[in-house]
Amino acid sequence: MEKSLPFSASQLEPILGSYPTPFYLYDEVGIRQRTRELNQAFAWNPGFRQYFAIKATPNPHIVSLLKEEGSGGDCSSLAELVLCERVGIIGDAIMFTSNNTTVEEYAKALELGAVINLDHPNLIDTLLQAGPMPDTISFRFNPGPEKTGNSIIGNPQEAKFGAGREQLLRGYERCRHLGARRFGLHTMVVSNEINLDSLLETARMLFELTLLIRSELGIEMEFINLGGGIGVAYRPEQSEICLREFGAGVEQLYAQLLTPAGLAPSMMTENGRAMTGPFGFLITKVINLKETYKSYVGVDASMANLMRPGMYGAYHHISVLGKEHAPPAGPVDVVGSLCENNDKFAIDRSLPAVQVGDVLVIHDAGAHGHAMGFQYNGRLRCAELLLQSDGQVRQIRRAETLDDYFATVEF
Ligand SMILES: *Cc1c(COP(=O)(O)O)cnc(C)c1O
Repeated sequence: MEKSLPFSASQLEPILGSYPTPFYLYDEVGIRQRTRELNQAFAWNPGFRQYFAIKATPNPHIVSLLKEEGSGGDCSSLAELVLCERVGIIGDAIMFTSNNTTVEEYAKALELGAVINLDHPNLIDTLLQAGPMPDTISFRFNPGPEKTGNSIIGNPQEAKFGAGREQLLRGYERCRHLGARRFGLHTMVVSNEINLDSLLETARMLFELTLLIRSELGIEMEFINLGGGIGVAYRPEQSEICLREFGAGVEQLYAQLLTPAGLAPSMMTENGRAMTGPFGFLITKVINLKETYKSYVGVDASMANLMRPGMYGAYHHISVLGKEHAPPAGPVDVVGSLCENNDKFAIDRSLPAVQVGDVLVIHDAGAHGHAMGFQYNGRLRCAELLLQSDGQVRQIRRAETLDDYFATVEF
């Protein structure tokens, strides 16, 4: 099975002539369309807002496109807050969902007027060192043993994120006492989820908790943030979550649980991966072939450019440009040049016969790809290019140079 590409081999040729591999190529049309689809899926909820999880693709040009489509920014660090500020995402267009947070980070979030989503009531004192209790405050719920997680985020009981139900109740009470007047509820218990029922179960859990909080404290949630976690169909045989079905499923639960109780909170999401993941490609060239106990295809990108396979054993589909429909020629390992044996983009992958000079396209690298890059072994971060809606290509981040490599050294 083959995955489709938003560009043809002949379209990529002049780009390869102008920019050395490896590089990332993002598809503007796909990125814009995905955010529109999500917004449409939740059009039934007038206050709906998607906050793009900046960590997925922290390139200001990409975040600007998302902003044009109505997306806010979900941040968890000082740098991500500043990135949002620089592209004009400020005020309640920022959701600050951090954990293990510093006073300095809260100070910046307060300065920008971000919505603060506290990981735990123990951070109330940290927040108060940065400024007065804001008018609006939210908490991150961790259901612990009530919900099973998955391999990326882990079992909720073992996850470092969020607070339990009792802790949350005490947290809301304390914030109200300190002057907060508007409240939100958040959770993020799944990641890379392609099972719709699991996402809907999360919505149900938050809606039930919303009802409990009102009956225990008389506090009515102004917004409910479903977090991120919508998955990417990394394997060709997988299918994506249908955003329309997701929105309709949440609408049904909302109508069933919240509307009869007289509640009408705004819905929010913090998706990262699903918004940009399928629309970014790592383009790399075959530079060496080797046969030992296995067959190796050596490419000019490495795990330093895309860490997911090495870090999680994640599958990323690989197309050989111009040979997309050629018959497979036996399993190969596609490897980078790091002196680490997990520097492999694929293990025992069935690919067409490959030659030195062939261009490989590594799919679904648009989220947690370039962003997780590093310089280990002197492998520098590569360029990011944007295939614009008008068909033109623009470099939106240059490749690092040796000067960058030494830039932070004190000589
Ligand atoms: C990573 C993250 C997200 C986005 O998750 P995706 O799986 O990329 O959708 C949202 N919220 C928080 C707090 C996160 O840490």
